[in-house]
Amino acid sequence: MSSSAAASLDRLSLPDAAGHFGIYGGVFVPETLMTALQELTAAYDVARQDPVFLQELRHHLKEFAGRPTELYFAERLTHHCGGAKIYLKREDLLHTGAHKINNALAQALLARRMGKKRIIAETGAGQHGVATAAACAKFGLECVVYMGAHDMERQALNVFRMRLMGAEVCRVEAGQKTLKEAINEAMRDWVTNVRSTHYILGTAYGSHPYPTMVRDFHRVIGQEAREQILAREGRLPDELIACVGGGSNAIGLFFDFLEEPAIRMTGVEAGGHGLGRGEHAARFAGGRLGVLQGCKTFMLQDAEGQIELTHSVSAGLDYAAVGPEHAFYRDRGRIEFAHASDDEVLETFQLCSRLEGIIPALESTHALVHAIKRAKALPKDKIIIVNLSGRGDKDVEQVARLLGEKHS
Ligand SMILES: *Cc1c(COP(=O)(O)O)cnc(C)c1O
Repeated sequence: MSSSAAASLDRLSLPDAAGHFGIYGGVFVPETLMTALQELTAAYDVARQDPVFLQELRHHLKEFAGRPTELYFAERLTHHCGGAKIYLKREDLLHTGAHKINNALAQALLARRMGKKRIIAETGAGQHGVATAAACAKFGLECVVYMGAHDMERQALNVFRMRLMGAEVCRVEAGQKTLKEAINEAMRDWVTNVRSTHYILGTAYGSHPYPTMVRDFHRVIGQEAREQILAREGRLPDELIACVGGGSNAIGLFFDFLEEPAIRMTGVEAGGHGLGRGEHAARFAGGRLGVLQGCKTFMLQDAEGQIELTHSVSAGLDYAAVGPEHAFYRDRGRIEFAHASDDEVLETFQLCSRLEGIIPALESTHALVHAIKRAKALPKDKIIIVNLSGRGDKDVEQVARLLGEKHS
């Protein structure tokens, strides 16, 4: 894109007052939730400009979550590729093992400020549920996490972690018994208990103000990365790469670089087994405009608009729709999208572990797959920053099983 086109994108003018990023975003909820969303929007609008709130948040992000995270030069991975330098933004080093704690802590603080003593959340693999349970334990808030019955079986350890930290985990038996159904149940709970309860949504998705608020709570990733790369290399990077489920870790890294036209940004979706129906979660490779769970955006659907089944080796990327801000910037050519297949991810999961002594989350590994391709294609004086959104300890059992299946 031309630099004037990039310069004319004012990232801070979005979304509009009703939460629209161009044609994407907005508010699509039952009338009973409108008041809650308006109340949340108003409370967040005050909090985000309140130095006391921001100072308190900074304090907890440092002392409880472990910020700032390192920007780590992946020397052996870089050498292996033979091209551009690869830096890893180490969100995997945060408390509870992924970037999700940034948002969970911040929303828990906001809930406390709003006088809400009961927190609900949805979770797929359990990462957001664990982060929310930790934040609620810390602030003495009641915590109820909705989780599909199928996910509870696959992620039994995370269920136990949440319960250890005092959360109630509610089994959801509807439909496919996974994330989408868990979100439906959380919204049903919110409608019923809206006066006492705040809903901590786990990604840059849903109705306004969630996509914007969750993005803002992850902006610290990009702000730190910017300072760190300037200190280390004396200049900004050439490329940024992050995996995209709902889109929170990616927009958190990208946001403070959006107005630097020379920096290429790529979101990496789950390519699964390939791009056949039901085999992947690459919304930008086969999806189209629709409305799902409060949000107008790109999603995988059949000819009648029914949401399609999705598949990914990583539970955190396995969702049929993508955050509205990503759809907006993709239309404008500012953020590009790629996908990585399950097989590529399994291979790179092992490569990163072996070369760097860092076991990445399967989600984050999608970003690494693309980064390796780019590093190989670029000369040695170029710089790539990859968001290592989480650690892979949660995934080792699954990978062991998958590799066993492959090799037997
Ligand atoms: C949940 C999760 C993701 C995907 O969520 P985004 O909102 O797209 O960031 C990515 N990486 C890890 C480690 C996760 O836990």
